[in-house]
Amino acid sequence: TDTAPRQRLISDADLAGIWVTNPTRRLFGRNGPTKLDIAVYYAAVGEFMLPHLLGRPVSLFRCPTGKTADCFFQRHPFTGMPTSLTSIETANSDNEKQTYIAVTDTNAYLALAQFGTIEFHSWGTRLEHIDTPDRIIFDLDPGEGIAWREIVDAAVHLRAELQAIGLVPFVKTSGGKGVHIVVPIRTTIGWKQAHAASARLAEALAATGPDTFVTTMGASNRKRRIFIDYHRNARSATAVAAYSLRARPHLPASTPVDWQVLESIDSPEDLNYSSLPSLLTSAGDPWADINQSERDLPA
Ligand code: ATP
Ligand code: MN
Ligand code: MN
Repeated sequence: TDTAPRQRLISDADLAGIWVTNPTRRLFGRNGPTKLDIAVYYAAVGEFMLPHLLGRPVSLFRCPTGKTADCFFQRHPFTGMPTSLTSIETANSDNEKQTYIAVTDTNAYLALAQFGTIEFHSWGTRLEHIDTPDRIIFDLDPGEGIAWREIVDAAVHLRAELQAIGLVPFVKTSGGKGVHIVVPIRTTIGWKQAHAASARLAEALAATGPDTFVTTMGASNRKRRIFIDYHRNARSATAVAAYSLRARPHLPASTPVDWQVLESIDSPEDLNYSSLPSLLTSAGDPWADINQSERDLPA
């Protein structure tokens, strides 16, 4: 309860002395995970998650009360935030100076559990080259009437198209309804160019399956189609980070998978806070080669 004394967090995971108050508070209803479960999840997957999170501006989706209605996005520094969290001043997409937050060390990452952080969303760049993205993302958003299997088949098709132009795409479940195809790129172009190039690429990809894909946002033309959302590639836009949980019942995780494994997934929601840690230790990180797979985006 809210009046529970501060309790030292004790688990099999090494939580580096981080404190979590109200560790038994349940999130998202009576049968939901506890605040401690979330902290333990992030400690357990840190080895896999941190290489993809550290040094990138982040937005946190925080749910301090554990009620969905009280959750909010936090992308700027906040009162009482962990001192180990980094602040960075940079322009947004409208060229206005803003101060963003970034996780640059393990302590800050672990400490965020205390702040009710459920989801981590990150920019496709790192602080040391903030003006030049190193990853672009095609967020495949299924319209009404699209089954999971169709999303998988579409993603596998797009993989081949991207490989054919010399790119090395990686894939993860979104933790929601779709999948994310992530393409590591050399840090040679700015955000405007990357967003524009990803738009043209999305249109070219959509043209390879006009009955399947759309590249415009309107709800009506998305019925029975898959929207290739390339707008995550604008400056200051974010996408949910690899291994982040999602703030919904059973807390599914946005899970990187080998392409072959993607085809064997029947229900992505089964990859969640309780199942994923044990799956990871045996399988290794399917994105281990992502930083060695950067290519130039075709002009
Ligand atoms: P799904 O597979 O269900 O589409 P998703 O994570 O891809 O899951 P989208 O709606 O396609 O969900 O993507 C929206 C993205 O935009 C989020 O992942 C998040 O990074 C960002 N976003 C959405 N709302 C906000 C907000 N209020 N503040 C900051 N970022 C936001
Ligand atoms: Mn999406
Ligand atoms: Mn989207």
